[in-house]
Amino acid sequence: MKNKLLELCARLPVDYAEVRLQDGVSTNIHYAGRELEDIGERIERGGCVRVLKDGGWGFATFNDVDDIEKYARMAVRQAELVGGQKFDIAPVDAHQQVYRTPVDTDPADVSLVDKQAMCHRYNQSILKHERIQSSVVVYRDSHATTRFASSEGTYIEQEIIFSGAMVAAIAVEGANVQRAREAKGDLRGFEKVTRMDEDCEDVVRRALESLEAEPVEAGTYTVIVDPELCGVFVHEAFGHLSEADFLYENPRMREIMQLGKRFGPDFLNITDDGSLEGEAGFVPFDSEGVAGGRTALIKDGVLAGRLHSRETAAKMDERPTGNARAISYRHPPIVRMTNTFMEPGETPFEQMLQETPDGIYAVSWLGGQTNKEMFTFSAEEAYRIRDGEVAEKIRDVVLTGNVFQTLQNIDRIGTDFHMVGGLGGCGKGGQSPLRVGDGGPHCRIQNVVIGGR
Ligand SMILES: [Zn+2]
Repeated sequence: MKNKLLELCARLPVDYAEVRLQDGVSTNIHYAGRELEDIGERIERGGCVRVLKDGGWGFATFNDVDDIEKYARMAVRQAELVGGQKFDIAPVDAHQQVYRTPVDTDPADVSLVDKQAMCHRYNQSILKHERIQSSVVVYRDSHATTRFASSEGTYIEQEIIFSGAMVAAIAVEGANVQRAREAKGDLRGFEKVTRMDEDCEDVVRRALESLEAEPVEAGTYTVIVDPELCGVFVHEAFGHLSEADFLYENPRMREIMQLGKRFGPDFLNITDDGSLEGEAGFVPFDSEGVAGGRTALIKDGVLAGRLHSRETAAKMDERPTGNARAISYRHPPIVRMTNTFMEPGETPFEQMLQETPDGIYAVSWLGGQTNKEMFTFSAEEAYRIRDGEVAEKIRDVVLTGNVFQTLQNIDRIGTDFHMVGGLGGCGKGGQSPLRVGDGGPHCRIQNVVIGGR
C-alpha cells in the first residue's frame, strides 16, 4: 500500500499531491437526564486526495480505496478549474515514520456493553440526588490509523487512540439554573474514564452549592482564574487569533498581531505544543505530514509566533509549525491549535490570594463566545476573595473583555500548571469536534468587567 500511494502521488500531473487513508472505529454514548440519547459504534474508513496545481487546490474524498485513481483524477480536474495565483507551499524535509499511541487500556478492547454500563452508573449516581434536576453523561472514543503519502516522498503511518468522558449535573430552583461538569479526555487510554465516580459526586456538590450562592454584583474586579479557565481563555480568546489562515485573510488583525509587539508583562508566555505525547492535542504529525512541535506564541510578553499550515507559512514567509489538521479524511486540513497553554510563572497560588485584598476567584468554565478580540466567558464556579482569602461562593459570574487589554492586565502568574483535555470542543470551518488540550496556571487579572447573567 505504501509504495502504491507514493507512486500515485508522484505520478499525478500537479505541483504537489498527498493522499490520506483512514481506518478506524469510534464510539459515542450520550445520556441526557434519564434518556439514553445516543449509543453506537461507527466504522470510519475512507480516504482523500489533495492536490495543488497552478495555485488551485483540488480535494476529493472516497470510501473505496480501489477507486483512488478515479478520485485522484477528479482532484486534479478540480484544481485545474479553480486555478489562481500560483504559489508554493513552504518546504519541509521528506520523511518516513510510523507512530502508535501507547495506551494503558485500548478502548477498542472494551465492549460497548461495558462502556454503557459505566456511563449508566455515572448517570444514576448524579440523578439519585433529589435536588438534581438533570444530568449529562457523554463518552467518546476513537481508534484510527491514518496513512499519509505525498508527492515529495513523505510517508507516515500513525495510530491515534483517544478516549474521554464528561459528567454534568444540573440543579434548578425556579429561574435559577446551575450546572457543574467534569471532563477527562486524552490519548493515554481508557482507564481514566473508569475512575469518575468521585467526579460525579463532585459535580452534584458544586451545582448544589452554586444554587445556594448569591448572584454576583456586576462591576470591575481583580480576578484570579484557575488553570482551566486560564486555558480556555488562552485557547478561545487568544489562540484562534494566532491561526495564520485567519490572520492572512484579515488585514486589520494582521496589523494588530505584528511579531515583536508587546502583548503583556514580560513574565507572560503562551505556547502551542503539538509534541506533548498523551495530551488531548498531541499531534505526532499533522494532516500535511509535518511533525507537531512547540511554537511560542507570546514569549516574555512579546508576540513571537503563530500557527501555520505549509500554505500560510509560505504566504507569510514563516516556517510551517505542524498545525494543519483535519478532523477526518472527509475534510482538508486547516490551521488549528494543538495543546495551547500559558506557561507557569513565579507566584504561588497562596501568595497570589494573600496579595488580593478584594476580588473574585473564578473556576472552570461553562461556555462563552468570542468575536475577534472581544470575549465573554461564564465561570462554572466563583467565590469572592476578601482579605486575601477565598470567601463565600457567588453565582452567575460572566467575564467580558478585550483580549489584548486583558493580557496587558495580567499581573501575577502562578507556579502551578494543569492541562485539560476533555472531549475536544474546538470547532472551526465546519470541522468539529477537534481534540485539543488547553491549560495554564492560576493567574491574576486586574480590572475585569464582570456582569451577572
Ligand atoms: Zn477552538
